[in-house]
Amino acid sequence: MAALILDGKAIAKKVRDEGAGWVTAFRAQHGRAPGLHVVLVGEDAASVVYTRNKEKAALEVGIAGKLHRLPAATSEVELLALLRALCEDDAVDGILVQLPLPAHIREIAVLDAIDPAKDVDGFHPVNAGLLASGRPALIPCTPRGAMRLLAEAGTSLVGARAVVVGRSNIVGKPMAQLLLAAHATVTIAHSRTRDLPAVCREADVLVAAVGKAKMIGVDWVKPGATVIDVGINRQEDGKLCGDVDFAAAVERAGAITPVPGGVGPMTIACLLESTLVAARRRVDGG
Ligand code: NDP
Repeated sequence: MAALILDGKAIAKKVRDEGAGWVTAFRAQHGRAPGLHVVLVGEDAASVVYTRNKEKAALEVGIAGKLHRLPAATSEVELLALLRALCEDDAVDGILVQLPLPAHIREIAVLDAIDPAKDVDGFHPVNAGLLASGRPALIPCTPRGAMRLLAEAGTSLVGARAVVVGRSNIVGKPMAQLLLAAHATVTIAHSRTRDLPAVCREADVLVAAVGKAKMIGVDWVKPGATVIDVGINRQEDGKLCGDVDFAAAVERAGAITPVPGGVGPMTIACLLESTLVAARRRVDGG
């Protein structure tokens, strides 16, 4: 039987609709909209599109979204000065610096300069540490979106075998932490993992966050497993595909996300949600 296809677009809309309700309540209580400031340095084509979409999505749910577009020649000192001003501005609840940065700017210096309370991307080491300690944190948006998809699919995580392929700070590691917090038994696999197909075949929940087109074949998928495909890869014909061979895996999995239209749309929706979480925690610790 073919798998349940997890419709990220529809679930992202639900998250955005919930967010719009929260914004209305926040405005009524605090007399202002939550503020999200997105910073882009340079003209990387994909980053220009991503940051515009983030600003637009924020404005659509009533968040005061603002995009700061800085020239590629902006110095690290200048960028850090802007971040300091945003950290000190009380009307700013969320700050996000679009990655990658130009080579002359140190990513670590920039990520560390964001107030952890406003770090809606969840990349600051304080938030990574809070997440790892099982304490309330601002959580990276892509794994947060993937967890919401699992919840909407009704996937049972308690005691389940979960395998996350990929160990980046942005996706793989926080995803594994969230699955662990949900009581799954978690394996993190990566480029040095021995016999990766056999490791994946153990998974009741398989999360692919690698960045290699269709690397995960149908025979890596346990029958009935829930498969979350985070990968976004451009094929030779220009079309996007995930890390999983979707056309084949859909016949064996129990539930699966498509690419595009799965995890991708959830990321921006969860960024809005994180902005609201940050705003509420800042004003009333809620
Ligand atoms: P990274 O390149 O930072 O990490 C990739 C990970 O995959 C690494 O841990 C790497 O292992 C592992 N890996 C690489 N090759 C193999 C292999 N042959 N076998 C097993 N593991 C391997 O990528 P990200 O985590 O940033 O992103 C992963 C994918 O998700 C990309 O396609 C990206 O575009 C997509 N993405 C999608 C988002 C969305 O909104 N849907 C958001 C963010 C990312 P090692 O550590 O050993 O090198």
